[in-house]
Amino acid sequence: MARYVFITGGVVSSLGKGLASAALGALLQARGYSVRLRKLDPYLNVDPGTMSPFEHGEVFVTDDGAETDLDLGHYERFTGVAARKTDSVSSGRIYSDVLEKERRGDYLGKTIQVVPHVTDKIKEFIEIGDDEVDFMLCEIGGTVGDIEGLPFFEAIRQFGHQRPRGECIYMHLTLLPYLNASGELKTKPTQHSVKELQSIGIAPDILVCRSEHDIPEKEREKLALFCNVRPESVIAAYDLKSIYEAPLAYHKEGLDQAVLDAFGIAPAPKPDLSKWLDVADRVNNPDGQVKIAVVGKYTQLEDAYKSIAEALTHGGMRNRVKVKLEWVNAEIFEGEDDATSKLEGYQGILVPGGFGERGTEGKIKAAQFAREHNIPYLGICLGMQMAVIEAARNLAGIGDAGSEEFDHEAGKKRFTPVVYHLKEWLEGNRTIQRDADDDKGGTMRLGAYNAVLTDGSKVAEVYGSTAISERHRHRYEVDIKYRKELEAAGLSFSGMSPDGKLPEIVEIKDHPWYIGVQFHPELKSKPFEPHPLFADFVRAAVDQSRLV
Ligand code: GLN
Repeated sequence: MARYVFITGGVVSSLGKGLASAALGALLQARGYSVRLRKLDPYLNVDPGTMSPFEHGEVFVTDDGAETDLDLGHYERFTGVAARKTDSVSSGRIYSDVLEKERRGDYLGKTIQVVPHVTDKIKEFIEIGDDEVDFMLCEIGGTVGDIEGLPFFEAIRQFGHQRPRGECIYMHLTLLPYLNASGELKTKPTQHSVKELQSIGIAPDILVCRSEHDIPEKEREKLALFCNVRPESVIAAYDLKSIYEAPLAYHKEGLDQAVLDAFGIAPAPKPDLSKWLDVADRVNNPDGQVKIAVVGKYTQLEDAYKSIAEALTHGGMRNRVKVKLEWVNAEIFEGEDDATSKLEGYQGILVPGGFGERGTEGKIKAAQFAREHNIPYLGICLGMQMAVIEAARNLAGIGDAGSEEFDHEAGKKRFTPVVYHLKEWLEGNRTIQRDADDDKGGTMRLGAYNAVLTDGSKVAEVYGSTAISERHRHRYEVDIKYRKELEAAGLSFSGMSPDGKLPEIVEIKDHPWYIGVQFHPELKSKPFEPHPLFADFVRAAVDQSRLV
């Protein structure tokens, strides 16, 4: 049976609960334990798949095809444990399961209530795979006191009570604001937030306090006394230059020790932090810098492309350079004058995934600029589709090439669809079918699919293999009907689905580095294991910087 750490937040949101959870997972692994991390989100969407990236940041996709919260990305990046469908749940999912059971008559005429029916469902979820790991870390989204979070807090309270003593602990993250006028850190908001938690029956064992200033001993003792935790269990979380210093920083503050103490595990196994020392060294001591432009639509909100930013950082770490990311709104390339000259100062151009027509003509121009100016180009999902449309228009002479996605939105046919709406494909041996009027939620080609790479192609060299598996999240697909024309024009289809029907990768041989992929390689990159495409894209960018 696993031991459980429940991670909650108070005072304000965005304190870095996900990161603290991920860092704790990494530290427990460093002490030889196996871990799994899980996120419980109080919102009513069934999953974040249908939410705009402006609302919720990136949607993180798992191998088994779930569209989940971006915190699962942190979990994977820090622990290397592949997240599963069962590691992310929302109120919406819980309620829809309960209501479905009710409609089926499974409750045998009973009145359905939040306690026990909803809370039981949450507890069932928490326990999935209980016998597989030493520690299960469950983060509750939002902050204590939120109305929609209450069933989750009630469920974790019951869970801790029903399990044998000493098998569940509660870790609470709060903020210590600093008042300039009096030059003091204030503990009152934390005290209130712990009271709120206690009022629903949860007494935190560990308090993690975000603070921009050193926490004096006196304040620690005060927090311990008023919040009923041990002084060594008041853990400071200071701002860091890089998130990848978090495991070392939390270790220095004694988080992992405090957690093991709270479980009564003594003597605690010694940690091996060598992996994280190397990661921190690579982040903090780069030999140079490259500038990469990410040309996208959701550029005002960095969280919208979280995994891409992290994967580029990892690529930089592999090459020992700092990757300076600049977010460029694709729409600036759509005006009268040719703004693409703005892209001249970059050593790499990345066009990420996206949905909808807005900004796509600008992305096509960015792809063209990269191709014509020999700048390394990485197109991801929509970014690959844009590269194909660009090549079709400007190399293969299909002047009105476009994607059915945009025709579909506009309700008329304006393009020759070199990218079409995928309605049928194979998942293993199973045929999946889709209709244009299907629900939007959960109906894309989602999760891990295999691809076969052409021997001798650039990508086969980058991967060091011709058989790969990568995560997908898309509804539209490059049409192989145009393969011959495009290949004759210089864009080769160097990665295909195993049945040879779906183009997975395109590349231009006669270019320093020009690759488009239909999948999302960024989702599998880790600081200690950078994804080969990102590592090599940054390497190519470093080569560019040497040219000038
Ligand atoms: N909108 C495109 C599609 O559905 C690309 C999706 C993506 O970039 N994730 O195919």
